[in-house]
Amino acid sequence: MATTRDYYDILGVKKDASADEIKKAFRRSAVEHHPDRGGEEAKFKEINEAYEVLKDTDKRKRYDQFGHAGVGGSGDGSPFGGGFGGQSQNINFDFGDLGLGDIFSSFFGGGGQQTQQRQARGRDVEATVEISFDQAVFGTEVDLTLSLEDTCEHCKGKTVEPGYEMKTCDQCKGSGQVVSVTRTVFGNIQQASICPKCHGSGKIPEKVCSVCHGKGTQSKRQTIQLKIPAGIDDGATIRLREHGEAIANGPKGDLYVNVRVKSHKHFTREGDLILSEEHVGMVEAALGTEIEVDTVDGPVNMKVPAGTQAGSDFKLSNHGVPHLRGNSRGAHIVTIIVDTPTKLTKQQKELLQAYADQNPRHKSWG
Ligand SMILES: [Zn+2]
Ligand SMILES: [Zn+2]
Repeated sequence: MATTRDYYDILGVKKDASADEIKKAFRRSAVEHHPDRGGEEAKFKEINEAYEVLKDTDKRKRYDQFGHAGVGGSGDGSPFGGGFGGQSQNINFDFGDLGLGDIFSSFFGGGGQQTQQRQARGRDVEATVEISFDQAVFGTEVDLTLSLEDTCEHCKGKTVEPGYEMKTCDQCKGSGQVVSVTRTVFGNIQQASICPKCHGSGKIPEKVCSVCHGKGTQSKRQTIQLKIPAGIDDGATIRLREHGEAIANGPKGDLYVNVRVKSHKHFTREGDLILSEEHVGMVEAALGTEIEVDTVDGPVNMKVPAGTQAGSDFKLSNHGVPHLRGNSRGAHIVTIIVDTPTKLTKQQKELLQAYADQNPRHKSWG
């Protein structure tokens, strides 16, 4: 299966490594971990997987942006189009780059040794849900309805009509793979790929399922209950393993749910902070007051101290967004807008003038 480790870490290069640095790092680690030289096969595959992505400018860009989701193990029709490591193909080792053609041959079962197949799996699926600001803050559960290829109910995904048996595949003689040889300047390259007739299982049905006609899947409308954790932010992606499309003789693909958070009438958000504005009068700002502030937890009383300047920020601890990990919460930050009166009665004007007369810096131009 595809690795979840960071591709740059696997190759031991920096995020901004040049194509040449990546190639050199790959060559070094591929030789070091090659199974024919006593290396661990899983590690070797991981190195190849990382290189498959990082050597390709487009895939590398998608990986930088979306992580593994951007290049994740599905073939044609993946949400990001033409992902690597397709359904019917073995990992495409890059012999040419290494110039090590011959030592690889036995790895592909040349010496009668069964190779580890990269198992075919269902297609990854992408969906989007939209939730409210408050739902994002406190978490929620949404029903997501999708029309997807699901396991065939009649044959339970086995592709064989109930009551009939499976028999050995005549194309691959039960090995589950076919080997093709390509001649290149580096020598003969053997490439093993999954048998197209039995999809790698080595067995085919005596009689194919009468409902799915041997596909093992059928299109079905399904509703998935999706738990959205408190504190999730706009643009986050939730991955549901094996909730994507089904495939015969393999695990389902993954479901990637993009979460969109609607904007709020009064609040904005910056990470775990919730921001809002509150208005106070000029005199209230000067003399101090107590105001009621709307928060996601409801109204909260807040003291505005005497001498508050326009644009001052006040913090209401623990009324912000809960942290995705842990029990703590961010703060709600209130920015004070000081309203200057625009309509004054004659008496109010005189009072303000009297104030101004006592304060030379604020002399009226009147
Ligand atoms: Zn076969
Ligand atoms: Zn069926």
